[in-house]
Amino acid sequence: MVCPKCHSENVNAQIVNTVTLKDKHHGIIWWLCVGWWWVPIKWLFFTLPALIFAIFGRKKQKAVNKKETMCVCQNCGYSWKV
Ligand SMILES: [Zn+2]
Repeated sequence: MVCPKCHSENVNAQIVNTVTLKDKHHGIIWWLCVGWWWVPIKWLFFTLPALIFAIFGRKKQKAVNKKETMCVCQNCGYSWKV
């Protein structure tokens, strides 16, 4: 591994674990097939469950683990993704 900045070979590679929260959304196909009639009916006939669903539905987040290898140059301090 060679530093792209100073071309030194004194480079440390480390795995960095980044966690990002991703919101769960319905896709466009779901809205075309189900969402346009399901959402009004749900609100008309199941107002209370829908309210509960809306409260809990917003908390539906998915933790996405992403492992990235970062290289840090020991010579000039430059870091970059591999
Ligand atoms: Zn460097």
